[in-house]
Amino acid sequence: IQRTFSIIKPDATKRNLTGAINAKIEAAGLRIIAQKRIRMTQAQAETFYGVHKDRPFFGELVEFMISEPVVVQVLEGENAIAKYRDVMGATNPEQADEGTIRKEFALSVGENSVHGSDAPETAAVEIAYFFSGLELV
Ligand code: ATP
Ligand code: MG
Repeated sequence: IQRTFSIIKPDATKRNLTGAINAKIEAAGLRIIAQKRIRMTQAQAETFYGVHKDRPFFGELVEFMISEPVVVQVLEGENAIAKYRDVMGATNPEQADEGTIRKEFALSVGENSVHGSDAPETAAVEIAYFFSGLELV
């Protein structure tokens, strides 16, 4: 059993898509074991996306992530990291497979509705950044 970290991004929370996205997560066999709605601070967003700090879209990405509240989640299941990335679909919704969250809901490569961890190490760091152990039940 594995855990991954998920964010329902501002473009999706703004359009009231949290429930629709959660339905896809649960239909894929992933369990939502922690969830909260937060407004990310600029410092949190910059740290969270620190690996992208030299990319041209970094400023835009941080502004987007703090533009509206987000829903942060911990998902659990067999191969949760890879499974959730399959459910999310490709970063660019134009390249995402049918039935994926990004194919159905994403607006653009930037406003792409969800984040999911890409490896066990990043999942552990990202979960600990937003949740305390006591919140994971
Ligand atoms: P995430 O890390 O959010 O799960 P990802 O792993 O599919 O998405 P990354 O390459 O890690 O994609 O990029 C992180 C985020 O930065 C993307 O989800 C998207 O919101 C934004 N982003 C990536 N590429 C671009 C781009 N070319 N223009 C604008 N925003 C981008
Ligand atoms: Mg990524």
